[in-house]
Amino acid sequence: MGRMGLLACVIVSVSTACTEPDLDHEGGPDEPAEIVVSAVEGARLCAGTQTWVDDELRRVRAETGLLPVARLPVTLGAGAVEERCTVPDDPETVVGCTLGEGGATAVISTPEALSHELVHALRRHQELRTRTMFEEGFAEAIDGSDAYPRYVELEPGELPEARWPEALVQQSKAEFRSVQSYRVAVHFVDHLRRVHGAEAVAAFMRGGIDGTAAEAETRFERHFGTSLEAEAQAWRASGAQGFGRGDPCAGGVVAIESGVTVELVVRVDCDDPETMGLEGAAEAAWIRRCVSLGAGRRAVQMGMGAGPGLGAVRWEAVPQTCAEGSSELDAAPKVVEAGDAGTLEFAACTWAVTFESTADGPQELSLTLGPG
Ligand SMILES: [Zn+2]
Repeated sequence: MGRMGLLACVIVSVSTACTEPDLDHEGGPDEPAEIVVSAVEGARLCAGTQTWVDDELRRVRAETGLLPVARLPVTLGAGAVEERCTVPDDPETVVGCTLGEGGATAVISTPEALSHELVHALRRHQELRTRTMFEEGFAEAIDGSDAYPRYVELEPGELPEARWPEALVQQSKAEFRSVQSYRVAVHFVDHLRRVHGAEAVAAFMRGGIDGTAAEAETRFERHFGTSLEAEAQAWRASGAQGFGRGDPCAGGVVAIESGVTVELVVRVDCDDPETMGLEGAAEAAWIRRCVSLGAGRRAVQMGMGAGPGLGAVRWEAVPQTCAEGSSELDAAPKVVEAGDAGTLEFAACTWAVTFESTADGPQELSLTLGPG
């Protein structure tokens, strides 16, 4: 690990691996190492992310009821994921991974997948293991924050039998791996949390090691007092559901009227407490703003301080905020690269607008929106 990596360490409890004197130590100098979060080589965590990481570690430990017993290293950065998370199928969608187990467990992740991977890692660290459906559903149900919100809509009554929890619990990791299966798993675990309480679900997850689906089903029935099949049937009968965690617009929403030109300006500065993400090694630092827009076509022009190719603005409609009857295309995510100008068709929604910089050092990004 280079000097940049050392400086980027975030200490939660005490580590002997990060010895920079100005770091935030919570425990005494002789306590064992716990979770040590560092940026990928050549990058550093921005100030907002440092605070966010501390919050997420606390939250994940509380919600899983698990503490690491030995040092658990976490490396953050898209570059590290690309290099070290090797999944044979669909490498495009991999945002993080947990490697090894027991005292050798390590997490490699983008910030957006950190909380999900931490759930896996704390479990692997203690060599806890159940069926993939529960592992992934539990990790997904704990994931999601204002910085990296999650929202998954599902109509369980319309699922084919092959995607029912009774079927998914039989599946190996390789068989399970599909977007739809993750959705089912998170909704089913969320249902269990609502019916039986989050602590009861966490206790079930800590409560044993299931080598087979039959073992998991037996333990499920003993723990929850109802069979997996009966619980899954109750869940399907409960109607359409939206599972969501985190509010991308917790910082407020600015209404932009039709007919006016607006310029949004942000300064993405890794040392600023509002700036999230990472700086250096082509990682992205970012700031988010939320605006509500009427439907229509608007000219969009982006300016930046550092030069072309070193920034982008991502537009994402906040779930459940678009006007009734909005076109799916107009509500779809949009990206404007630094230096781009053009016109975009917007649905009437609240939009989370993320200003991203890949420059080394602070950069001012501006976005001019023509009259709608
Ligand atoms: Zn996972």
